[in-house]
Amino acid sequence: MTKKFSFTLKNTENKARRGEVVTAHGVIQTPAFMPVGTAATVKAMKVSDVKKSGAKIILGNTYHLMLRPSAELIEKLGGLHKFMGWNGPILTDSGGFQVMSLSKIRKISDEGVEFSSHLDGSKHFVSPERSIEIQHMLGSDITMIFDECIQFPATFEQTQKAMERSISWGARSKAAFKERDGYGIFGINQGGTFKDLREISAAKLVEIGFDGYAIGGLAVGEGQKIMFEVLDYTPDFLPKNKPRYLMGVGKPSDIVGAVLRGVDMFDCVIPTRSGRTAQAFTRNGTMNIRNAKFHDDAKPLDDKCGCYACVNHSRAYLHHLTKANEILAAMLTTEHNIFYYQDLMKDIRAAIEEKRFTAFAKDFMEKFGDEVVEEEVVVS
Ligand SMILES: [Zn+2]
Repeated sequence: MTKKFSFTLKNTENKARRGEVVTAHGVIQTPAFMPVGTAATVKAMKVSDVKKSGAKIILGNTYHLMLRPSAELIEKLGGLHKFMGWNGPILTDSGGFQVMSLSKIRKISDEGVEFSSHLDGSKHFVSPERSIEIQHMLGSDITMIFDECIQFPATFEQTQKAMERSISWGARSKAAFKERDGYGIFGINQGGTFKDLREISAAKLVEIGFDGYAIGGLAVGEGQKIMFEVLDYTPDFLPKNKPRYLMGVGKPSDIVGAVLRGVDMFDCVIPTRSGRTAQAFTRNGTMNIRNAKFHDDAKPLDDKCGCYACVNHSRAYLHHLTKANEILAAMLTTEHNIFYYQDLMKDIRAAIEEKRFTAFAKDFMEKFGDEVVEEEVVVS
């Protein structure tokens, strides 16, 4: 029997939350990190290895999949789960962010967005109704509302206008969503760095009523300090009994700091993209494996990590593969990074359960809070 989509709060410590999301394709323990599978693949990783990392849910991108290979084809082939061979939960974004950041020649109206594909220039139109229809064809467990994303920095007026349009698009998205057991739709809180807009946005979204609430418009170049300031108040505007998802975040210290402020779910391309640029996340901080000092280092990337790379290979081997531009370098480093992120989430969950997360977070921020990963805007 299919279970209803639900969220249960199991433990809390101050604002940090330990919960459980039930979906049609399985249960997600929160706080959770969702590896990004933009084009129906978590780049450089086999699905079986994503599973082994402990990831329970992955993210797919509506914008990319509608353009190639098309939602119609994926639906014909049995949906995104079957198409990519992933039988766990999938969250799809609505395409809004990529339409704004990747496509050319956009025309935005109250009706929707007309744009040209960044692949071949072909013309497309996405409205809230079309975005929800595409996500339905993909078969995603968690559908996101279609919202208007704006560039950072933006004025109060620009932010307010986009937030209001996103609310109206959110209501249309909800109306277009076909309710079935185990499938949910999340609203997206907007309002930039303006507290009153965040509060109005949250209140209006709650009035419409969603299965979960995302916080959008962050990690767009404002920096960790400002992001944490917004997170100091925004989660408090959202219902306690629904999951909260911070979109596109982040580096490890961003995640720890956001959990501390009451966020439950995350997604980001940082671990996978860094895996392709020889950057590894470890319990001792980030390391660039291209660095000459690793050329004869016989130790694994991280001796506490159980991933294939750490169990079987040395830093020297990874350094060699990277220098030689071997594909395996990207595969092993990516897999390691995804394992690291999943281990981090496991540690976070255990710390909340044992009421020691506040101390865990303080220690983590002291060690890694200043670490610079890649500050550029993540677009896909
Ligand atoms: Zn590893």
